[in-house]
Amino acid sequence: MSAETAYCYHCGKHHPIEEMRQVVTKGGKRWRCIKSIEATKKPTSERDAFGNTVTSINRSLNQNRMKAQIKE
Ligand SMILES: [Zn+2]
Repeated sequence: MSAETAYCYHCGKHHPIEEMRQVVTKGGKRWRCIKSIEATKKPTSERDAFGNTVTSINRSLNQNRMKAQIKE
């Protein structure tokens, strides 16, 4: 049995380390409790923003490709 705890940057308090996961943020590696991760289901909002950017780039590439095919 471990009494180890870590500071949860999401809740601003300490939790048992067994209930936590290390996550990578802009400020480096930090601890966050699994409960808060599960509650939001978004470990990094940056990843979502990046995914949306890629999707819109792919969309515009496909549109350009379609225009090119029409010209041919
Ligand atoms: Zn927490």
